[in-house]
Parts: sequence; structure tokens; C-alpha cells
Amino acid sequence: MCIIFSNLVHVSHFLIMGKKRKKIRVPRTRNANTLTESQYFSKIRSSLRNSFRYWKPGQIALERASRPSQSKNKRLKKEYCCAICKEWFKRADVEIDHLEECGSLKCYDDIVPFLKRLTKENPNAYQIVCKPCHRGRTNEYLNKTKK
Ligand SMILES: [Zn+2]
Repeated sequence: MCIIFSNLVHVSHFLIMGKKRKKIRVPRTRNANTLTESQYFSKIRSSLRNSFRYWKPGQIALERASRPSQSKNKRLKKEYCCAICKEWFKRADVEIDHLEECGSLKCYDDIVPFLKRLTKENPNAYQIVCKPCHRGRTNEYLNKTKK
């Protein structure tokens, strides 16, 4: 048992800027010992997010937040209102936000609630926000969950 464990967890000494530092390596328990637990679950999380990126209820919410572009640039057909600051933006500058944060996915039990929040059917579960407002909201959420 001890031998197996010592293979997984290395305690190594690093010389960083001339100082001796003890660094505990996180064991790589997944994918033939190439991924840590947290890398494994973040892979699942990001593949789910990618799969449902163009989920229709979110696209409907996007349409509802749009109007014909008022810009002089004729190539821009539509613009989108940020639900938080109420300014108008081109498509590249807004993001579809889940009103209820999809949250973290750190273990198998997190998958089902994450997926349910990610794939809500009601377009009202989504809002369109500009990138700075989205960042603000995400930071606010992260600060809340830290406490
Ligand atoms: Zn905004």
C-alpha cells in the first residue's frame, strides 16, 4: 500500500529563485495517470458547455434581446441589449448568461444538477449580457460561493 501511494504522490524539492520549496504534486489518477481529478471533471464540464452552446432556448432569449442594428456599419444586421447595463452591443460583445449559475462540476454527483441548469427549456431562464457585465456577475458569484 505504501509503495503504491508513494508512486502517486511525489513530494519534490524545487529550487525557485534560489529558495528551497516543498511542492506537493496532485496525484494523476485519471486517463492512464495523465489527468488529476480536477482536470478530469473540468474536461467533463467544458465538453457539456460546448455541446449545449447553441441550445435553442438561449438562442430565443438572444433574439428577444435584439433589434435591427442602428450602427452605420451595414454589415451589422442586429444589435443586442444587455440585461444589466441596458446598453446596445453587437453580437460578438454579448454573451448568453444562465440566470441560475450552472455552478461547479467537481464530482459525479454534480453532473446531473449542472446539466439541468445548463439545459433549461424556458427562454426566460437566460439573459443577454455584455462581456463586462457578465464578468462582474461571474466574479460576484465566485465571491459568494467562496464564503
Ligand atoms: Zn452590460
